[in-house]
Amino acid sequence: MTRFHPPGAPVAVLTTQPLDRALDYRAPEGGVEDGAFVEVPLGPRKVLGVVWGAAAGDWPVEKLRPILRVLPVPPMAQAFRDFIERSAAYTLTPLPAMLRLGLRAPGLGEAPGKRRVYTLGTGEPDRATAARAAVIDALQSRPGDVFALSELADMAGVSSGVVKGLLKSGAVLEQATPRDADYPTLDPQRPGKTLAEDQIAAAEGLRTSVKSGTYGTTLLKGVTGSGKTEVYLEAVAEALAQGRQALVLLPEIALTGEFLTRVEARFGARPAEWHSGVTQAERRRCWTHVATGQARLVVGARSSLFLPFRSLGLIVVDEEHDTSYKQEDGVLYSARDMAVLRASCEGAQVILATATPSLESWANAELGKYARLDLTSRFGDAVMPKLATIDMRDEQLPGGRWVSPTLQRAIEARIIEGEQSLIFLNRRGYAPVTLCRACGQQVACHQCDARMVEHRFQKRLMCHQCGETAPMPDACPSCKVEGKMAAVGPGVERMAEEVTTLFPEARVAILSSDLFGSARSLKAKVEEIARGGADIIVGTQLVAKGHNFPKLTLVGVIDADLGLQGSDLRAAERTFQLMRQVSGRAGRADKPGVALMQTYQPEHPVIRAILSGDEESFLREEADQRRAAGVPPYGRMAGIVISDTDGATAFDVGNALARDITPLAAIGAEVYGPAPAPIARIRGRHRVRLLVKAPRQAPIQPALADWVGRIILPRSTRLSIDIDPQSFL
Ligand code: ADP
Ligand code: ZN
Repeated sequence: MTRFHPPGAPVAVLTTQPLDRALDYRAPEGGVEDGAFVEVPLGPRKVLGVVWGAAAGDWPVEKLRPILRVLPVPPMAQAFRDFIERSAAYTLTPLPAMLRLGLRAPGLGEAPGKRRVYTLGTGEPDRATAARAAVIDALQSRPGDVFALSELADMAGVSSGVVKGLLKSGAVLEQATPRDADYPTLDPQRPGKTLAEDQIAAAEGLRTSVKSGTYGTTLLKGVTGSGKTEVYLEAVAEALAQGRQALVLLPEIALTGEFLTRVEARFGARPAEWHSGVTQAERRRCWTHVATGQARLVVGARSSLFLPFRSLGLIVVDEEHDTSYKQEDGVLYSARDMAVLRASCEGAQVILATATPSLESWANAELGKYARLDLTSRFGDAVMPKLATIDMRDEQLPGGRWVSPTLQRAIEARIIEGEQSLIFLNRRGYAPVTLCRACGQQVACHQCDARMVEHRFQKRLMCHQCGETAPMPDACPSCKVEGKMAAVGPGVERMAEEVTTLFPEARVAILSSDLFGSARSLKAKVEEIARGGADIIVGTQLVAKGHNFPKLTLVGVIDADLGLQGSDLRAAERTFQLMRQVSGRAGRADKPGVALMQTYQPEHPVIRAILSGDEESFLREEADQRRAAGVPPYGRMAGIVISDTDGATAFDVGNALARDITPLAAIGAEVYGPAPAPIARIRGRHRVRLLVKAPRQAPIQPALADWVGRIILPRSTRLSIDIDPQSFL
């Protein structure tokens, strides 16, 4: 029910400014609708906002300032506004911060005539400099794309003056932005692949749900290669046929390439894309056409949940168990949970697709809150990979080497057959520890409580907490002795080095997120590998995410025990998922695959569960343990992190909170801490944690708000609340 406010009527406008409420303004000439995107004066500035209903009315109308301008985009739908409010309440995020996620259309407030874009011209620069060459390189690396000035300058690592300097010679062209071109029409009636029997049953189930036009969530559980994507594309087809929009979330930008191709094969055209790898002009086009309803299918990253859909009928969360769906800075939210919330606001369906469900989703299906559909075998003749452990206690390995003789022989056999092997180690960089053999000191980050990790390709040490880098020192930073710095332990770069030594003839590729300057170059590398451009792939968890490498028949896990050590409540679940996902990469096509896991504890229950492949009993046992401990998904949790440049101040705040827990006690919640966070200092700020545990049904958000609201924070202190935390660092 959209309300219209006649000219001069008092209306509330929510802006993205950090204020605790919407402000009252007068409707402009011509009036304004609820949800309209507007520009309003705020102090001396003009800011963007959205009409959020009638005015609160505590200011006399004649004192209100008028709305300056209504932006020429369709108003924000009621369902979307509801979602902003409910997601803000759920994550305890201030409304303006939540709204900001919904206003991420580049240049939304600019007058259309003012926007300029830059492309490659045919002229030669009148004077060649390194900075100018960088601009030309950046443009050449992305043929066909057009860029905003600052975007192009950032990409090339130069000032915008350098770009401007290339205009006169015609080496770079400046153009007025054309009207955003429509997306090509997707045709849901085109025939898809002929589905197998179990695929038909699942697809029919999903189509029926989408037809209902109401909210519902389905867990689509299917082993890797069972055809989950083919099946959920049928649900997308149904949404399109109903005249509604669909959104497919992928956990990793590098996966979009393959997905776009599949959409094109199925519906005859490519969908809209929304993630950090597309240009501002392209994102603007996506946002605008999602708002009008012209863009019918969007594939994107978690932030695409905050696009202004007109009539959303379906959200697919592919690889729903993936931890990257949790946004860990800024607004802390789980895209999986927010997808469910958005769908319930929109009367839309959600499909959570995975081979290894998160315990949360699995439990919701058990409870009957979610429907569940299973695909139990790989499509066609493909069989599941054979899993085995390599008991490292029996292997003869010299120090500083990690590939066991057994694994080495297996790789050798693959090379002879012309097949690919994947060496998996979930650790970026060359070595996790750099140590001085003279004094024994490890090189640490000066502003974090963390070691510096050597990245040999970049020839630098890097802190994985704050991103700070430093040149590799020749002399020990502590004792100043020269030539004694040593790498301890393996990272993927070091594994690649070992593999190259063992197999000098083989083509070795490394897949690790830090080795690619852009999403696009990573995408290109993945495609090259899929075509057979490498014999051995050495990768981090990046490779576990649903890439399809048809020639890959062997997966070697260097350290299957790696994830089992931490005290993280999800350590077992994560290791199980990761090992199953990684091993699932092997033998997708017609060749059977093998996964070999190097371990020092083959009798560990989690390792045994991975080998047996009996997911249901693993999940059931894990569920029993969590239920007994009252932890998620059988209890609620919230993580509180207090940080300050002064450690004592942070602790004082933590202690003050712990002293009075009345609002939490009232809902049966318990508080643990304060304690120093496992990473006790990041970017020079000391970090103190508290953990709140509450019964499953307890209304934890209002209690938390009440609790922290009783404390007045010192100016230097920051407090963040993470509802349903995934990370406990
Ligand atoms: P999942 O998403 O479960 O890993 P995919 O949908 O990617 O599985 O399917 C795995 C492979 O099998 C893909 O190459 C896909 O094109 C193929 N495939 C699955 N189902 C069919 C089908 N019914 N007909 C033809 N090929 C199929
Ligand atoms: Zn650091």
